[in-house]
Amino acid sequence: MNNGIGVGAKQGADSNQQSPFLSKIGEILENALDELKAARDLSGLENRFKFFCGKKGKLTEILHLIYSLSPEEKKNIGSKANEVKKQIKVFYQNKKNELLEAGKIGLPKKHKLDLTVPGAYIEKFHKHPITAVLEEAVDFFSSMGFEIAEGPEIETTYYNFDALNIPSNHPARDVWDTFYLLNGLVPRTHTSSVQVRTMEKKSPPFRVIAPGRCYRYEAVDATHLFMFNQMEGLFVDKNVRLTDLKGILEETVKYLLGAKKTRFRPAFYPFVEPGLDLDIECVFCGGRGCGICKNTGWIEVIPCGMVHPNVFKYAKIDPNEYRGFAFGMGFDRIVMLKYNINDLRFLYQGNLDVLSQF
Ligand SMILES: [Zn+2]
Repeated sequence: MNNGIGVGAKQGADSNQQSPFLSKIGEILENALDELKAARDLSGLENRFKFFCGKKGKLTEILHLIYSLSPEEKKNIGSKANEVKKQIKVFYQNKKNELLEAGKIGLPKKHKLDLTVPGAYIEKFHKHPITAVLEEAVDFFSSMGFEIAEGPEIETTYYNFDALNIPSNHPARDVWDTFYLLNGLVPRTHTSSVQVRTMEKKSPPFRVIAPGRCYRYEAVDATHLFMFNQMEGLFVDKNVRLTDLKGILEETVKYLLGAKKTRFRPAFYPFVEPGLDLDIECVFCGGRGCGICKNTGWIEVIPCGMVHPNVFKYAKIDPNEYRGFAFGMGFDRIVMLKYNINDLRFLYQGNLDVLSQF
């Protein structure tokens, strides 16, 4: 390495002339103080300090070059180097404290406002597709006079099963086989548990929707998750008829999914009588048949039906006076159909490459 000092030459033979090593150390001190002073942040300061005083720094470099000098000269230069190192270290420490202090108030001490600094880039965000569609659905139902009802996610088996006409010996409980907590409570398997809670609190007539998370013991795959979102709907009044249910739900799928063709099929759910499933024409194949609709051309979107008289009895509402209909939308499925997503898991993986497309 050519550092202009004359490596290995017999230096210091003339005591009147200062050793070039000593003057080099003086230069290092001067440069180090200038550099440390100019540091604007902690990592810059740290790097500069290492450059001069680190294991491979400028001062150590000098000490490696004096191996051929006399012991006395080595001693002189070594102690000068140590002294300089201490000076630099004190300066470094003071500067570090100053930067830390400035960091606490968020601005460098001497330049509290620098209008020339480029502004911070603010990334634009949007709502998660589930939240966005949920808000759309809430707006839609609100416009028809539905209010939002809430219930706990950890439910008693009474509200989750018994009061919905699913007693403990009923085979339908198997369909909702789920996780149980040690204290006998259950993470709700559907938002239908909000139905009886609402009927106990409100006196008819009323219209409510209850969006929320539900849990089931499911093997996770493209169309099943152990946690999912549902939206329950309940409409209770005198003279409510099946045609009211059909009209409202057909409008719902038109509004949310742009569905053109719909059909109702009979289905069994213990808490409704009659029970129905609302299907829409498959959005993936336009009704021609594909893997997702299992070649039927139809996709089931909303299980629904007229409230079973037993459910009214549990809620102490007279089924001879009042009638109602109820439905439970699998909300993640609605989002899946709206955006042509073929795997539900994408909605919960937090992958921005996927989510930022919606
Ligand atoms: Zn299809």
